[in-house]
Amino acid sequence: THYVYRFGGGISDGGQGDKNLLGGKGANLAEMASIGLPVPPGFTISTEMCTRYYEEGEAFPDSLREEVANGIAHIEGITGKKFGDASDPLLVSVRSGARVSMPGMMDTVLNLGLNDETVEGLAKKADDERFAWDSYRRFMQMYCDVVLGLDHGRFEEALEIAKEDRGYNLDTEMTAKDWRALVDEYKALVREMWDKPFPQDVNDQLWTAIGAVFGSWNVERAKVYRRLHSIPSEWGTAVNVQAMVFGNMGDTSATGVAFTRDPSTGEKAYYGEFLINAQGEDVVAGIRTPQYLTKRARENAGAKPLSLEEALPDTYAELVEVFERLENHYRDMQDIEFTVERGKLWMLQTRTGKRTAKAALKIAVEMAGEGLISQDEAVIRVDPAALDQLLHPTLDPEAERDVLTKGLPASPGAASGKVVFDADSAEKKANGGEDVILVRVETSPEDIHGMHAAKGILTARGGMTSHAAVVARGMGRPCVSGAGTLSVKAKEGVMRVGSREVKEGDIITIDGATGEVMVGEVPTVKPELAGDFATLMEWADKGRRLTVRTNAETPNDCRTAREFGAEGIGLCRTEHMFFDSGRINAVREMILASDEKGRRAALDKLLPHQRKDFTEIFEVMAGLPCTIRLLDPPLHEFLPHEEEEFQEVADAIGMDVEKLKRRAAELHEFNPMLGHRGCRLGVTYPEIYEMQARAIFEAACDVAEKSGDAPTPEVMIPLVATRKELELMRAVVEKTAKTVFEEKGRTLSYLIGTMIELPRAALKAGEIAECGEFFSFGTNDLTQTTLGVSRDDAGRFLGTYVDKGIYARDPFVSLDIEGVGELIEIAAERGRATRPDIKLGICGEHGGDPASIAFCEKVGLDYVSASPYRVPIARLAAAQAAL
Ligand code: PEP
Ligand code: MG
Repeated sequence: THYVYRFGGGISDGGQGDKNLLGGKGANLAEMASIGLPVPPGFTISTEMCTRYYEEGEAFPDSLREEVANGIAHIEGITGKKFGDASDPLLVSVRSGARVSMPGMMDTVLNLGLNDETVEGLAKKADDERFAWDSYRRFMQMYCDVVLGLDHGRFEEALEIAKEDRGYNLDTEMTAKDWRALVDEYKALVREMWDKPFPQDVNDQLWTAIGAVFGSWNVERAKVYRRLHSIPSEWGTAVNVQAMVFGNMGDTSATGVAFTRDPSTGEKAYYGEFLINAQGEDVVAGIRTPQYLTKRARENAGAKPLSLEEALPDTYAELVEVFERLENHYRDMQDIEFTVERGKLWMLQTRTGKRTAKAALKIAVEMAGEGLISQDEAVIRVDPAALDQLLHPTLDPEAERDVLTKGLPASPGAASGKVVFDADSAEKKANGGEDVILVRVETSPEDIHGMHAAKGILTARGGMTSHAAVVARGMGRPCVSGAGTLSVKAKEGVMRVGSREVKEGDIITIDGATGEVMVGEVPTVKPELAGDFATLMEWADKGRRLTVRTNAETPNDCRTAREFGAEGIGLCRTEHMFFDSGRINAVREMILASDEKGRRAALDKLLPHQRKDFTEIFEVMAGLPCTIRLLDPPLHEFLPHEEEEFQEVADAIGMDVEKLKRRAAELHEFNPMLGHRGCRLGVTYPEIYEMQARAIFEAACDVAEKSGDAPTPEVMIPLVATRKELELMRAVVEKTAKTVFEEKGRTLSYLIGTMIELPRAALKAGEIAECGEFFSFGTNDLTQTTLGVSRDDAGRFLGTYVDKGIYARDPFVSLDIEGVGELIEIAAERGRATRPDIKLGICGEHGGDPASIAFCEKVGLDYVSASPYRVPIARLAAAQAAL
């Protein structure tokens, strides 16, 4: 095997398809070079070397020396410069690049190859002494930080003092002489902190930088990022070594980032930011506020500094041509980094651009319209999980807003919460159940955990492509960046705009779609479901086989779910109805009754309530199948737990408080999840299920009578382990149905089925299917009982399990396909063997998880059922699974 892949000068050892090997950046540099775009020559050291580097105890094999030397020779051949040459030195960048982009998480060193001699050569060749010494000090700063691990604060401080001493405000005021003096100070700092002089041997610089970049794969923030984005640590990063080009060689030089379409709205308009006379990371770092790419964007924003279109029109025209070629070549929106060196355009990166859910939708739908991709491709391109962003409420346009300030609309969505000024507090408060908005001067990769914990992010500095903006969009968090009038005093625990002050803990609202920041909480409204969303969903529905139902038990949730396209109810948890304040006491009387007669008396009180519940639901779900699950949880869940409550309840139901306590104690269970619950309630107290069945059939008959649009009730028996349980419960339901139909003088079609929530039920599915027309996989309980992990206590240790790779993802969120999935397959197969037309569905939380839905498609289930807001996600995921 070899590890070095060259690109540039008509050679491309790799290409677009080699992302796993070369990382995203390396593969796309090779691809751009191969289609003739202007890419500075370089080479990529593959991700395989990263793995080997760690295997060999953070060391390189000897063979790599020669390969890298050949790579450098390749760059030298094309540029005509020599690495370490005192008269015309080759300078290189050393950058990380993993398979998927991890913005700002890993390290980069620029201007490598400068030392006391080559800096003079660079000054002469560029005919710009100031530029050369500025480059040298930038290199030292980065190298000391990334490679030597020295406190970068000391270097920044030295620069600040140098400016202050000379009465300067901006770096651009520093002269060649000033930079030269600063380099001397930096050298002294290196000696002081590192005990050795700054390395002068360029090869030494190169190898230590390569090692540092590979090493940055395992820094803490990169690990956190990987965990949040489920990126396996085995992937490793590649290292790209590439000839430097300079955006800081005067007013015809620039550096910038651009998107071929607007990443926020998806509009077909070039979007980008740049800085004249600046280098590399200046734009993303958010230190200077960047300029707009196009005249239109500048005018829309009412900004003064000229756009690239106006400042460097020829370069802009060239760039536009590159955009067109890239979009046609990759057939997707591209995110680009470019540098202009004295009027010459260079491409430094392209990748598929991250985008908001709204933009993803618009771009997919429009590209299909333009004929660039097919409708099916459009469906496949939109990440179902990202739809979540779109389905949630936005600020009510009618509501009053106390606008504090305005920044850039960096990531859409609205959020309200308490102000916090650092990432750790954000995490702590969010864990305590509080909604927080993380407010920072600007964010850095160290803030990543706090950004994730926060409901929204607000920064005083930085542009649309700043760290905060990019990361927030990726996470789907609303973000307002670059709120310039905002002064953040984290240490004092306040932020100010003019004379107004907001303290830590005060509530603010941010609107990531407009950039507005408001004091207090602003009410929200439902999202817009027409337009691109409707179009894409229509295409998705054409492609999917699985039916999508909803888990809902209130008429309101049912209505929302239908608006989102639900095709029935997959799970109505009737116990939720028992908690209603109007009837909880009747429920308690039922539980506390000492015999059947007492229970029946209480159940008679409950019947009209249940009938009304079902009538309302059946009306909303007119004509659709509705799975109603009979009572499932252990009865003592309905009893009081606190001392004061006992007295209240005793008074309310006219029972002696001591007797109540005794009865509650009798009902106590050591392990209620495996206790007297599910169909075990129906087996011991059939009258409960009888009442519920009566309510269901009476309601169904009433609705059929009134509207003619009869629902199809599917009565579901929970937590069945044996055929006999289902047989007994079936008899209760059938007898009740018969009685009600006689009373009402009409019949209705209905089904009786069971949940598969226990391993025994999955294994004995063949005989259980003899007594039931459908199975619904209750994968919450099935996961709990198969893994032997309590769903209520798992939170305490599952995180560690996921970190250690024992489970790839939380098995209560994404189905454990290997284990629980096998039981589902067995149950489906055995159930079908007995009853070929058995209806199969899933109603655990997994019914709304795209990866689990793909599995359901594979097994050939008939439907998935998800909570109302996840219904569109399920529709899209079901289509993607089928296509
Ligand atoms: C399940 O167990 O998957 C299920 C849907 O039922 P519940 O969550 O109500 O136990
Ligand atoms: Mg269950």
